[in-house]
Amino acid sequence: MELAPDEFFRFCQEKDSLTHRAAGYFKVAPEQFANWRWQMRHQLQSPEEFPPEIALLAEETAGFSKLDSLFRAGLTPYYAALMQNQASCPIRLQAMPRMEEFSDALGQADPLAERLHSPVKEVVHLYPDRVAFCVAMLCPVYCRYCYRKRRDEESGLHFNRVIINKGLQYIASNSAIRDVLITGGDPFISSDESLEHLVQSLRKIPHVEIIRFGTRTPVTLPYRVTHTLSKMLAKYHPIWVNTHFNCVEELSPEAVQAVTNLVNAGIPVGNQAVLLRGVNDSAEKIMTLCRTLVRHRVRPYYLFHPHLVEGTAHLRTSVKTGLAIMKELRGKLSGYAIPTYIVDTPEGKIPVNYNYILGNDGSDLLLETPRGEIWREKGAWE
Ligand SMILES: *Cc1c(COP(=O)(O)O)cnc(C)c1O
Ligand code: SF4
Repeated sequence: MELAPDEFFRFCQEKDSLTHRAAGYFKVAPEQFANWRWQMRHQLQSPEEFPPEIALLAEETAGFSKLDSLFRAGLTPYYAALMQNQASCPIRLQAMPRMEEFSDALGQADPLAERLHSPVKEVVHLYPDRVAFCVAMLCPVYCRYCYRKRRDEESGLHFNRVIINKGLQYIASNSAIRDVLITGGDPFISSDESLEHLVQSLRKIPHVEIIRFGTRTPVTLPYRVTHTLSKMLAKYHPIWVNTHFNCVEELSPEAVQAVTNLVNAGIPVGNQAVLLRGVNDSAEKIMTLCRTLVRHRVRPYYLFHPHLVEGTAHLRTSVKTGLAIMKELRGKLSGYAIPTYIVDTPEGKIPVNYNYILGNDGSDLLLETPRGEIWREKGAWE
């Protein structure tokens, strides 16, 4: 039997932990449940695979059978065990397929036109100094709002040696590239050895200054983010990680352990959330999320307005809502806890933060204060 990583062993022992309780649902030992490879092998892909303790809504059962053509469904047993037994549960809304996905008039397959911006397969080169390098196609959970639903012709792309080598060659031959964002899919769904090999290859390229990962494993498969993985990555600093918590319900003790392993290894961890209807579309929910993230040393980085991706009309919300939330945050939360609100487009990320500039009066600048009053900053305009 494969052993559970040490730092998660604690949760196996604690009888009231999610790990211990959920292992019982799946009739395995908690040590087995805390093994990330077991979680991946037992990804829940059809209603029959759910234990009786986790009930499905009729809408979701139908979703599983009808939705494969649009976007496959799959959840780790861990993430499924985080779900509450009610339709409005924010975890359910993110992960469970629903028939509503068929009612979306505006959604597109590739809303960021990433394919047009890929000079070689899976390297998205939009900004001069940085690239997104999509080495992975698999994910622990298939988030229903994912903007990379298209998954190109998925089979065989996950950590494909040929594609990775061509990507590395492209990066090596472009000295303007200083920052490589390793993403996917989820790049942490791979062995420590293949990840180390990839990072080592990038470190051989002198102009690559920072290497960062975009991974949702702290949220969807925290057992993957072991102390061993974190220490290995730390050998290749500067390494940064961005993860993807959308609601405070996702910050379980297991998830907190995953980010703690990273930050204790000196890896700065940021968070990219997506604003989603019913999941986090209120100032109170975003505030609780961001405050809790900072308490665990995770810096809220971006709050993305939902991408115009097919099958997500029921999860999208308006920029008006987003701006109202952003306005509430400023003044009520530490600056550290406030992300930048972004509309992501094929031309790049566009910040759409609330505008406090009211105008100018001659050379004076007129501003709205956090309390909603007018402030005249003398001579600041020109
Ligand atoms: C988001 C993104 C990046 C990283 O952008 P930052 O604003 O630096 O975080 C780089 N390349 C592509 C194609 C992206 O979509
Ligand atoms: S983890 Fe990221 S890439 Fe994977 S399905 Fe979720 S949003 Fe998409």
